[in-house]
Amino acid sequence: MAAHGITRTPANELATVEYPVGCRMPVTEMLSEWCGDHRSEAATNSPTHRGMSTLVGMESESPVERLVFYPFAYALLDDELTNYCWYCLGDEESLKKCSGCSRAQFCGKKCQSLGWKDHKIECKALKELAGKNIPDVEVRLLGRIVARHQTIESGKADKDPTFYLDHTSRRTIMELACHTEKMRQDAQAWRKFESIYERLTTFYGQKALADKDTVFELHCRNYINRHAISDKAYLKEIGKGLYLDLCAYDHSCAPNTIYSCNGFIATLRPLSSNVNIHDTTTTFYSYIDLFASKEQRKRMLKETWYFDCQCSRCSDDTEHVLTSALCDSCKKPLCIFGSRATAHAQDTTCPNCNTVCSKERVMEAVKTMRFIDRILERNEFDLMSTAIARNFLSDLLTRYATILSPVNIYYCRLIQAIIPRIDSTDQEDLLGYHLDALECMKVCYPLNHPALAFHLMNIGILCTNLNKKEEATDYLTQSQSMLNFVLGDDHFMSNANRKHLDRANAL
Ligand SMILES: [Zn+2]
Ligand SMILES: [Zn+2]
Ligand SMILES: [Zn+2]
Ligand SMILES: [Zn+2]
Repeated sequence: MAAHGITRTPANELATVEYPVGCRMPVTEMLSEWCGDHRSEAATNSPTHRGMSTLVGMESESPVERLVFYPFAYALLDDELTNYCWYCLGDEESLKKCSGCSRAQFCGKKCQSLGWKDHKIECKALKELAGKNIPDVEVRLLGRIVARHQTIESGKADKDPTFYLDHTSRRTIMELACHTEKMRQDAQAWRKFESIYERLTTFYGQKALADKDTVFELHCRNYINRHAISDKAYLKEIGKGLYLDLCAYDHSCAPNTIYSCNGFIATLRPLSSNVNIHDTTTTFYSYIDLFASKEQRKRMLKETWYFDCQCSRCSDDTEHVLTSALCDSCKKPLCIFGSRATAHAQDTTCPNCNTVCSKERVMEAVKTMRFIDRILERNEFDLMSTAIARNFLSDLLTRYATILSPVNIYYCRLIQAIIPRIDSTDQEDLLGYHLDALECMKVCYPLNHPALAFHLMNIGILCTNLNKKEEATDYLTQSQSMLNFVLGDDHFMSNANRKHLDRANAL
């Protein structure tokens, strides 16, 4: 799965966030994130327990209903181990090291003692690691899942009233969907498990674990159902968690909800006012990055979740605009895939101006998209210096602007790649690229989606910097209303947007 995206940024700098394979993603795939002051402010468990009462909490003060979920188990990404508390995932300035292993970090005594049930088995293993690297998130997350599962199975959890503080669930981990047989027969999936299992036993010791079959059963459930945990600004992924009730919701490439995280607590949020969030047959969120063509999305979903997406977006032919060529005559998008035409050696007539587009030109567009996909997949630009990559990308954009339509997602992914490489003093260029990508973003993301809101906010900020008051307030007002709706008007990003809007209004 392609990994790309943007994260929160320090002043005048753009950065990217990676999306992990095999993970449901909450983190917004943004074209860019251009809010100078995000960082200053942002720097920022269920188990199945039989007989547990509360299922999920509810946010009451909001006009739209939201549902709150706690994880069965969760773990920080490798790069974030020193940035967040291992229990609450808070980003306190002064995290304190666990005196047992000197590796884990907590806000203080309270977090350490609440996190002890998960950390206990880790702490012992970490102590024996001495100076070696802490095992990766796959090992740590599965280790925590196995440990919790065993405590429940042994009946010990029942005797401990605090075993799952605030963590409750409707179902057990073994009740989750799992595709065990498919994963056993999928050579790549099996190899991945074998590798994790080997590291797991090396780290924790065979005795601390369940038998291999049980670990595989738990691994399948984890791999298919876990979620990415984002930072509180909804800008970058910091961990992975398994939420037994949240994964009851199915995927759609045109989702009507998103979920965001505050520490390990995930909140499912409607994108429009007509969503019955309790109804899992009509409520969907997206498991994948929505900034992708139908073909890419279908591939990602098949590879990790083994299903053919039949969502409303995947069955919508207007979606083919994302892979459209440019009509040489009228300069409008010309769809070359789908029911209207096929890309294989066939002339295509432009429905707008009736000009025939030759099969050679159609093939040129197809080849161009394949080429872009390949160079982005291989991260070739990361190996170049910023200036060389920028010039190369800029040349490609100029050349492909005559072949691909401006809404073409491959074209827009090149724009996405060039934005972080533009010098922050070139505000006009940055604004131009952001505006060029807007139409494509609107095809990919439903209204009120934070990715779209962040993009509009960035445009607003750039307009403000360029003294374009009217445009700035227009874009920032749009993003404000989207953020207020979906994240709430007291959310960190809503507050950030409000400050930018005030600044635009003061021009
Ligand atoms: Zn904490
Ligand atoms: Zn420890
Ligand atoms: Zn779909
Ligand atoms: Zn035309």
